[in-house]
Amino acid sequence: CEVTRTFRSLRPPVPLPPTDSPLSFPEFAFSLLASSPTPAHPALLDAATGEAVSFPAFLSQVRALAGALRSVVRLGRGDVAFVLAPTRLDVPVLYFALLSFGAVVSPVNPALTADEVARLVALSGASVAFAVSSTAAKLPAGLPAVLLDSDHFRSFLQKQSDGRGEEGLAADTAVVRQSDTAAIQYSSGTTGRVKAAALPHRSFIAMAAGSHALLGKPRRGRERSLLGAPMFHSMGFYYTLKGVALGHTTVMLTDAVARRGVKGVIEAAGRWAVSEMTASPPVVVAMVKERCHLEALERVVCGGAPLPRTAAESFRRRFPNVDLCMGYGSTEAGGISLMIQREECGRICSAGRVSENVEVKIVDHVTGEALSVGQKGELLVRGPAVMAGYVGDEEANASSFDSEGWLRTGDLCYIDQDGFLFVVDRLKELIKYKGYQVPPAELELVLQSLPEVIDAAVMPYPHEEAGQIPVALVVRQPGSKVTEAQVMDHVAQRVAPYKKIRKVLFVDSIPKSPAGKILRRQLTNHVQAGAVSR
Ligand code: AMP
Repeated sequence: CEVTRTFRSLRPPVPLPPTDSPLSFPEFAFSLLASSPTPAHPALLDAATGEAVSFPAFLSQVRALAGALRSVVRLGRGDVAFVLAPTRLDVPVLYFALLSFGAVVSPVNPALTADEVARLVALSGASVAFAVSSTAAKLPAGLPAVLLDSDHFRSFLQKQSDGRGEEGLAADTAVVRQSDTAAIQYSSGTTGRVKAAALPHRSFIAMAAGSHALLGKPRRGRERSLLGAPMFHSMGFYYTLKGVALGHTTVMLTDAVARRGVKGVIEAAGRWAVSEMTASPPVVVAMVKERCHLEALERVVCGGAPLPRTAAESFRRRFPNVDLCMGYGSTEAGGISLMIQREECGRICSAGRVSENVEVKIVDHVTGEALSVGQKGELLVRGPAVMAGYVGDEEANASSFDSEGWLRTGDLCYIDQDGFLFVVDRLKELIKYKGYQVPPAELELVLQSLPEVIDAAVMPYPHEEAGQIPVALVVRQPGSKVTEAQVMDHVAQRVAPYKKIRKVLFVDSIPKSPAGKILRRQLTNHVQAGAVSR
């Protein structure tokens, strides 16, 4: 699999439509769907209520909504739509409708605070928002909003439902180019604060073409896939789109189930007899511990953070007939760049093999020299699913891509002689709490806004259930008696719950480079020792 130290997929390349032909993701998805008889099973299933949306109803709702959004809300190609909503059956309809005429979908975590939301709206340049009654108050004043739980929106889904299906949709759409931005998703990338990653239609077309080549037609009709990743996150967003394209039933963890945490996820998988589920490592860890009956389950797709070896081994013992398919992906690289396929599941702890049409390299982090099999270095990714770049941030783009278009991932990895990738560590400043991104730089700014704090650094600390938790190292003003609880409260009031600081260590100073950059490697031992001794 090694060609001049570039690693390519062992599977044959998947043909993609010519780059310059106008094509939106929905057009591509609906053409895949139309290549077989319309599935009789539902497209979407609400795991809490059992409410279902059939494929014909989905297509007609997409078409009706696209029409209403263009004629009533006056949206058009290039307009950015901010989506601040929990998992609901109408969200995939909204995604497809917006994409069909070239509007840009920008989905975000509904748990964010109003300040966090305002920052993302400014980054994306959104001109409209889609929210629900309970999240709308977090939107900045002046941004027009459409409420998904309003009668008005419900009427949009029914307009013009004349049964014309996907042919009608194509006739009504604006000309969308594959290079047009389809989604803006948020990630801190390899450094600093959150940035807005622009992913073109081509990215989702390439990923869906790859998935279709692997699991499309042969499995159609039997696949019932539980969407364990949130719909606003890159993996959940792609799986939402892919499910429709491949004609699978997507089982959605709506609020009533999601509130019950991993228990709710596992019960939903059993209740709806799912054949596939996407799950973060904490869900896989819980599946091993919980009493659950998952007879229909054939495959668990797990990624977003490392899965401990012990958990992977226990999973194999507990579910010998279920394939545990680890995948490696990122917001910037688009969906999943490397994945274990069912026949490869014996390779415990690998994060995957290179996906179709994707190329990866391992390079020396300092010199940039390409490394060989077994050597550890930074993983670089190139391929049609990779983002076009961060919106309006040329500096971040220049440091994220090299001159040949390779995307730096900030992950320290190696590839073995059989082409399996192993993630060793994270070189970048990113904490992953239960699979969610927690950028240290963002929390450091919040900590520094506390008058009694002179300096602060936020570091990851390993945690069995969450993967990692954010720990703050804080330098107090001389004589200050500010307590750990006060520091944690200050942060908790200003950030989404998953970003909360979970431990505070008071220190005398934060080591910095002459340029003022926090020397995080030097802090690692300190955090280990401090956190353990508490
Ligand atoms: P996100 O953009 O939120 O999807 O986060 C991407 C980051 O998650 C990657 O750069 C890795 O640091 C981490 N990640 C994703 N998949 C894996 C995996 N299978 N094993 C270890 N880390 C992973």
